[in-house]
Amino acid sequence: MKVFLQEEKYILEVLPVGMLGTNCYILMNENTKEAIVVDPGAEAEKIISVLQEMEAKVNYILNTHGHWDHIGANAIVKDTVLAPLYIHQEDEIMLSQPSPYGKSYGGRPDKYLHNEDILPFGEVFIKVLHTPGHTKGGVSFLVDKLLFAGDTLFEGSIGRTDLGGGSYEVLMDSIQNQLMVLPDDTIVLPGHGSATTIGIERANNPFLRV
Ligand SMILES: [Zn+2]
Ligand SMILES: [Zn+2]
Repeated sequence: MKVFLQEEKYILEVLPVGMLGTNCYILMNENTKEAIVVDPGAEAEKIISVLQEMEAKVNYILNTHGHWDHIGANAIVKDTVLAPLYIHQEDEIMLSQPSPYGKSYGGRPDKYLHNEDILPFGEVFIKVLHTPGHTKGGVSFLVDKLLFAGDTLFEGSIGRTDLGGGSYEVLMDSIQNQLMVLPDDTIVLPGHGSATTIGIERANNPFLRV
């Protein structure tokens, strides 16, 4: 899919990977080929071959949180494309925990993400929003009108809070104060399932009509 961010043309690829169909996202500036990879959760070979086909130059590998289905291909992708890996410090421990299917390949982070960090990315910026509640170190990435929301907000649903470090109150606070303050036309790219918008979720998401 092609998107215009600040008058520049970007290519957005969505690759559902692994046992849970986790959305791995690649966003690349079509002119400069600068790219980011969000949540390389599994199927490293597939992700790498798409990156190579695109001739992407990866600036950052970004994890929305540390669950195994979002981080499982971190190490192989990182070692292949030689880009730094960023995660919130509160979720770092999960990178070395095994997945239910065996060893984890979460790798080692190069940098920690903090709320309101701004990462330069060509003509646009990546703004980090700390959105805990699904995990303690959960973050969302706002790139112009694109929001990579991880497992915080889904089309018609919200993230689970019954896993380690989860909290319903904290998650609702993150969604209301970090995400629902964004403009209605913000495109929400969740960690699983279809894309939506802040406006659609504001109007229809049953969890937000309290
Ligand atoms: Zn998760
Ligand atoms: Zn997930």
